[in-house]
Amino acid sequence: MTTQEYIQRYNDFKNTLEKYNYALFIMSYDEVTDCPKKDKKHSLEVQDYFQQKYTDILTSEEYKQTIAQLYARREELDEITRLDVEIEQKGQEKLSRIPKEELYRHFENLSRSGYEWAKAREDLRYEKFIVELKELVEYNKKYIRWQETEKLKGYNVLLDEMEEGYTEEMYDEFFSLVERELVPFVDKILKQPKPYNTKLDHLTFDISKQKKLTERIAKAMEYDNTVGCIRETIHPFTNWANNNDVRITTSYHEDQLFSNLYSVMHEIGHALFQIQMDEKYNGTNIFSNVTCITHESQSRFYENYLGRSRAFVSFLYPILLELFPEEFSDITEEDVYGYVNCVKAQYIRVEADELTYPLHVLIRYNVEKKLFHNEITVEEIPATFDDYMEKYLHIRPKNLKEGAFQDSHWSSCFGYFPTYAVGSAYGTQFLESMKKDLDVDALLKVGDFKPVNAWLKERIHRYSGTRKNLEVVRAVCGEEFQPEKYISYLKQKFTEIYFA
Ligand SMILES: [Zn+2]
Repeated sequence: MTTQEYIQRYNDFKNTLEKYNYALFIMSYDEVTDCPKKDKKHSLEVQDYFQQKYTDILTSEEYKQTIAQLYARREELDEITRLDVEIEQKGQEKLSRIPKEELYRHFENLSRSGYEWAKAREDLRYEKFIVELKELVEYNKKYIRWQETEKLKGYNVLLDEMEEGYTEEMYDEFFSLVERELVPFVDKILKQPKPYNTKLDHLTFDISKQKKLTERIAKAMEYDNTVGCIRETIHPFTNWANNNDVRITTSYHEDQLFSNLYSVMHEIGHALFQIQMDEKYNGTNIFSNVTCITHESQSRFYENYLGRSRAFVSFLYPILLELFPEEFSDITEEDVYGYVNCVKAQYIRVEADELTYPLHVLIRYNVEKKLFHNEITVEEIPATFDDYMEKYLHIRPKNLKEGAFQDSHWSSCFGYFPTYAVGSAYGTQFLESMKKDLDVDALLKVGDFKPVNAWLKERIHRYSGTRKNLEVVRAVCGEEFQPEKYISYLKQKFTEIYFA
């Protein structure tokens, strides 16, 4: 067969795979949003069926042959196809090291474990979920053995899977800085009085009005129903099929107005990355090859560097007054800024303020390390988690919902958490660079995200997954990643709030 014929065959396969993928995308989004509780098991069965069909194609001899042929002739391919095939070949090599029965069992277990996690979290009963979790950990330990290379060993296999090129050594260096610099600083701040009118602690906010707030913010951020949609779920996330269909989720709580607000800003950050990529990458592996750190660097950027800035609060405050006139009657703009930046020793990572956030991640990173270094068993995860929380934040969870099983991540993967903290740290240098070109504060004060989005599109988003982590920092900022800058940013921001 000629190269052109192989390309044609590859495209035919991709076409079919894309259709299965889209069906799976819709079903998995539906399952955790609108799908009625009673039907969830059925929904899972259908997903399993499609997943199996999808994997059958992916692991078929004909498909593998096609990839291998194109990979061997990669010099003849255009740039996008070559990169696409290279990523596919790498995936194929990994896949080929996994026994097929193990892979299918793992997929089945994955869809069940997510379901059991959500159920366990609701009923506060974890016995069943621990069974699933044990299987997942076992699988991941086997996965490490299957994928280990001369250079990549142990837990590093899982870390590399989530963020190619990042190793335990690199994360250790980052987190030791966090531990050394931020833990004592947080301790000092926790002794200070709250920097806002504490009436804010006791208010409740009508959910239908909160939804209006979501709409207003989403519109300002240029995210609307031409390319997106917002549904409710337990653990907010973003999912996408291509750059014209990028869906987010949120969750509303009457007593936590800002939880939804910042969650929406975070997820729209993820969404914009996908929406603003160059559409020539649609349907290729490049699209799904954006690494976690780079993705989280964008979501955390919108949520914190922009959303929790003094300038953005100026834009937000009049909207709050308009939607909740009674609730905010004797609350000032300064109160709102203090409130959304209040440093708290509390249990939930997704509710954490910008300063304690990396400590929540550090807790999870330490637990995972112990687990994959075989220093603790699955049964010991909750107590280990609680010990670390006591160590860094001086509080001890009363149950697993406040502790080790608050996040859905461990019902599917390991090695993801550290990317949140490093991604957050990139933001300091991105903001520094952005401020050289734009008057960011003036724009945020009037809620004008257009130039900000355009800046990020031009320098980061449009490249999709063709550039990775440290490379992105170098390209955008013209310098190496410097986590010390992140530490200084945090110390300066919170010193001003608490000690000015
Ligand atoms: Zn995120």
